[in-house]
Order: sequence, then structure tokens, then C-alpha cells
Amino acid sequence: MCGIIGILYKGRHVAKDLVRGLKLLEYRGYDSAGVATINRDELLIEKDKGRIDVLNSKLGFEDMPGRIGVAHTRWATHGAPDKINAHPHTDCDGKIAVVHNGIIDNFNEIKDELIRKGHIFKSLTDTEVIPHLIEEYIKNGYSYRDAVIEAVSRLEGAYALGIISLYDPNLMIGVKQLSPLVVGLSEDGVFIASDINSLSPFTKNVIVLDDGEMVFLRTDGYEIMRISNRQRVDKKPLTIEIGTQFADKEGYVHYMLKEIFEQPVVLNYSIRVQEHYLNLMAELLDRSKEIFIIGAGTSYHAALLGSMILSRIARLTAIPVIASEFVSQYGDVVNVESSVLAISQSGETIDVLKAIEFAKSRAATILGITNTLASTLTRVCRVYIHQQSLPEIGVAATKTFTGQLAVLYRLAMVAGKRRGKLSQREMDEMKVEIAKIPGVVEAVLRNVDPIVKKLAKKYSKTKYFIFLGRGLNYPIALEGRLKMLEITYIPSLAYPAGESKHGPISLVEEGVPVIFVAPPDETRRFIIGNMEEMKARGAKLITIGYSDDSELKELSDEYIPMPMVNTLFSPIPYVIPLQLFAYYTATVLGRDPDKPRNLAKSVTVL
Ligand code: GLU
Repeated sequence: MCGIIGILYKGRHVAKDLVRGLKLLEYRGYDSAGVATINRDELLIEKDKGRIDVLNSKLGFEDMPGRIGVAHTRWATHGAPDKINAHPHTDCDGKIAVVHNGIIDNFNEIKDELIRKGHIFKSLTDTEVIPHLIEEYIKNGYSYRDAVIEAVSRLEGAYALGIISLYDPNLMIGVKQLSPLVVGLSEDGVFIASDINSLSPFTKNVIVLDDGEMVFLRTDGYEIMRISNRQRVDKKPLTIEIGTQFADKEGYVHYMLKEIFEQPVVLNYSIRVQEHYLNLMAELLDRSKEIFIIGAGTSYHAALLGSMILSRIARLTAIPVIASEFVSQYGDVVNVESSVLAISQSGETIDVLKAIEFAKSRAATILGITNTLASTLTRVCRVYIHQQSLPEIGVAATKTFTGQLAVLYRLAMVAGKRRGKLSQREMDEMKVEIAKIPGVVEAVLRNVDPIVKKLAKKYSKTKYFIFLGRGLNYPIALEGRLKMLEITYIPSLAYPAGESKHGPISLVEEGVPVIFVAPPDETRRFIIGNMEEMKARGAKLITIGYSDDSELKELSDEYIPMPMVNTLFSPIPYVIPLQLFAYYTATVLGRDPDKPRNLAKSVTVL
């Protein structure tokens, strides 16, 4: 899940901009980083373990001279995150530098063969076979360009590559197979990168490569080639407007906090996604025999809630499935009458893309919800909806989760109307209610922030947390648990509250904090029963409930008071205190919520 970027400028040094772009890719991995440039017939490489900023001060990335360069921020898959395994990787002669995102499945076989031929490997990565393989083809008489083509034709797996070399210092090569890669073009030069956002400070003109394509870039032009038949592919650049405002923390200590507080604004965008696309999607869903909603991590929680609201509002049955389990669980029943609605913030989550690839091969209809324009998901879907949450940099999803929910609500409403399950009056009322949600979220942020901050301090030493919710707020309990464990590393459980008697209650002893998501809906009276059960066993009850609910308040040890909200839409505001709770607990414990251990935002390895 690494991030890669490459720049070739006509007239100035690239290193400063490489680092600037690399910083925007840091969400993709951050255990080590490196830069390679070519200057006066010399290939310069600086790399090490650690964060980009620290390495930049230590190794002076930005001061490296050269008009061409590639850079990398790593999320290790093969070999520990250390200096030797950090990218770029080179051949024996130090003439070729490669940065790679993905996994080369057949690297062992290639490596054995190259070792037999005398190549010396320095790292434990799969990536290092690439420069050596190119070198081997050159030794066998191929031109540099043909050697690269031959080498990449042998690679199996997922890879986006950036390659520069002393053999042709004015040529930058990009390769794409399953991992994302885009090309950027500007007056000043040419670019390759793992995503469009990282190019936003430099250009709006981009070309999105498809799997199996490679690109040869020079300052005066580019050539795209299909690797399998070596035919030229004609592609024109698209102009994509992306602001750069997200690159800044705007005074917040962390991106995560900034993104939590951005929710009132961006929810307004998600609620107002174009009705035309919602209609198209609803029509396709309505025609399907089976509907699956797939996602991974937070997006799976959105899928779970999506399934509930499609049932409740549109009377549609949609089966929520964890993307990586989709083929084994439901592969056999997928056919031309099935629809798969894929949810992926990045639009590049490999588990989701793999599931879709399978569903497509069975002629199913593919639909998508994503936050990333021009991502692979948008290109394989029959219809997709861009949720417009603006780019999210913090690794833990917050505003993109509530954005996904907003889109799913809108979709369920449009589908309900189309299917005659909602009258015009009901639809209009729901529209009014959902339009109030950003304002409710704003009030929640204002009121509960100081309360949750205090609670985080008080409970940060706990051995574990238990999160319980019912009905529409069961996915919210799951999401609260995921936020907590991914950024604080405190083991946490989440269950439907009714299920807690069937196992998790055995963990409850004096002082264990149990968080109840308890809006005043039809589940409330059952939740009260579950709270009593926990209290009787010594749990500390932390409840998120309606501010005027005195019964709940009395029963609880801690109370997070929420404003009145139409309970159908309660999951959106009710997840906010949980996002804040995880965030403040992480900061109390001295963890970096923006870059949690072992995680990366866009998961592009299986
Ligand atoms: N497999 C490469 C490595 O471990 C790249 C990892 C990735 O893209 O996640 O260095």
C-alpha cells in the first residue's frame, strides 16, 4: 500500500516537489521513505526507516539535485521496515532505480534465477527483483526500453512502478497492474503518482492508466503502451479539479480531528449528490434479483447499515458482505441478475476490486460509492456515486464514513420512492429530516467534544472496551469499536446489545467500560435491559443517548447527551462521539491517530 511519485521537469530540480507530493501520499504507508534522482550521470539515492518529515531533515531529500526523480513512502509487505528494504531499489550496477506499490507474486522464482546468474541482492523485498531483471535483459543485448518491457512482462501480482535509469536519464517509466497509477502533465514537466491528490499542487491534467498499461514519459510527450500486445494506446488527459486545501491541517493538531470537525460541511455535499445517478442506481437495484453490498473495514460498516436502510426505506433485500469474503460466501450465486454495490473510500481497495472483478466475470451489475474520482472503482462500475467528502488524509475514516451513510440514505429514499414504498409526502418529509443532519452534527460536535475529552482521560487506562448497540446503531457500535482499536490499540469488542448475553458478558467485571449507543428509538427499552445486566456485573456504563432521557441518564455512570434527531437518521450523529472518544483516547495515550501502527489508508494488497 505504498505511495509512489515520479517527476521529470524541463528546467528545474524535482526533489522539493517530490517530497511535497510524497507527503500527500503518506496516508498510504509511512514506515520508511526514499528518493532517487539523477544528476550529472549519477544516480543519487537517499532512504531510511521513519516518517518523511524526519527523514527529510536527516537526509536532505529536498536538496537532492536533478531534473528527474522518483520517491516512495512504504508500507512493508516483504522484509522489515528498515533502511535496506526501503525503496527505491537498484540493480547491481546502481544504474536503475525502481519504486513499487504492490506485491510481485512470482518474485521468489525470478530471484532464484537471477541469483544463479550472479546478481547480488541487498534487500528482502519482492521489489528488488525488478531492477535486477531489467539489468539482466540489458546484459542480454536488449535496449533499456525493451529490457523494461521484457522485465515487466514477466511480473505476476499487483504493481504500480516508477522507474528511472542512467541508461536513459531523460525517460521516466510508469507501469500499472492492479495497483493504482496516474500520469500528470503540465507546462513544467510530467508526473506519475499513486493518486491524483498528490499531483494536485502541480497539475490538473491527468491520465488514469488501466491495468496492463505502461507509460514512457519525456518532457516533450508521452506514450502509453499495452504490455501484453505492445500496442500503443491513445489516451487524452482529463482535467480534474481538486483543491489543495485538505493538505493543510488548518490549525488542528491532527488531520483526524480536522476531518471529524469538517463533517457538518461535507455532509451537506454528500446529501446533495446528483439525483440523476441515484435514480439510475435505484433502477438497477430494483431490477436485480440479488443485491450485495460489499466493503472492507469502515466501508463494511456502511454496507451493513446500508442494507438495513434499504430494507427499511425501500423494502429491498441487500446482503452486506465483507469484500474479501464475498467470493467464498456468495460467489456461486452471482449471475447476470445480481447487483453488487461496492463501497470504497479510495476506490482502490484491492479486496473490493477483486470481488468486483469476479462479479463482473459473472455478468453481474456493478455499482459503486467512492470518495475518489477517477479511481479504479469508478471505471469498472456501471453507475457510481462520488460522495464528495473531500479528500481524507487521516488513516482512520471519519467524515467519509458519515458521507457514505448520507449517500446510502439518499439512495434508499430514491429507491423507496421508485418502488412505490414511499409516498411523495413521505419522501418530502425525509428530505427535510436528512437536510437537518449536518446541523445536528454541528451541535453534537459543539456540545459533546469537551465531555468526551474528559471521558477519554478517565478511561484511557482500561484493559478493554465493549461497544453495544441495537438495530440501526449496531453498525455504529462496530464502527466505534474499530476507531478505538485501530488508533489506540486498546482491545475492544462490539456486539448487537441483545447478543451480549451470548458471550461477551463473560468479560464484564468491576469497572469494565461498556459503551451503549442508545437513541430514543424502538430499541431503547431493550437496551435498558442490557444496561441493567451489565450494571449488575459491575460494568461502568457510558451511554450516548437523548439529552432529556432521564431514565437512561440515571442508569448510566457517564452520559453523552445528544440533541433530538429523527431516529431513522440517528446513526450519523451518534457515531460522532465515538470518533471523538477514539481520537482523544489515542492522544491521551500518546499515539498518533493520523498514522496508526501497521495500518495504511488505501489497502491495495490482498
Ligand atoms: N512489496 C513491496 C515492499 O514490501 C511494496 C509494498 C506495498 O506496496 O505495500 O516493499
